[in-house]
Amino acid sequence: MLTQIIAACKLRHVLQDVVRRRFRMACRPLDESCDCLTCQQHSRAYLHAMARRSLPACAIAVTFHNVAYMQRLGRDIRAAIMEQRYPDYVRAFVTQHHPDGAVPQWVRTGLNLAGIELDV
Ligand SMILES: [Zn+2]
Repeated sequence: MLTQIIAACKLRHVLQDVVRRRFRMACRPLDESCDCLTCQQHSRAYLHAMARRSLPACAIAVTFHNVAYMQRLGRDIRAAIMEQRYPDYVRAFVTQHHPDGAVPQWVRTGLNLAGIELDV
């Protein structure tokens, strides 16, 4: 369930970024550390141009990236569980995505329900 919510939020977030003008001249990929087909073959500027011509085609390209992201996330979560460091992994993940400490309340509530305290 958590990974599905992250996937839906990430697709919307990345698509919003792609259609913004700041991607118009960006020559780098969505994620320079990603080995997906989209990041290996297309720049942000190309995706921006694609989105202006055909948003569904752009959504498909971004979905390739998101699926690769979710696969890496699943592998990392599985490794953290197997190594019995899942709560620490979650805290690091949340800190990485909210470096200013402004973690949304719904995230805190969800993690509390899962038995994970952020402020340890
Ligand atoms: Zn990618």
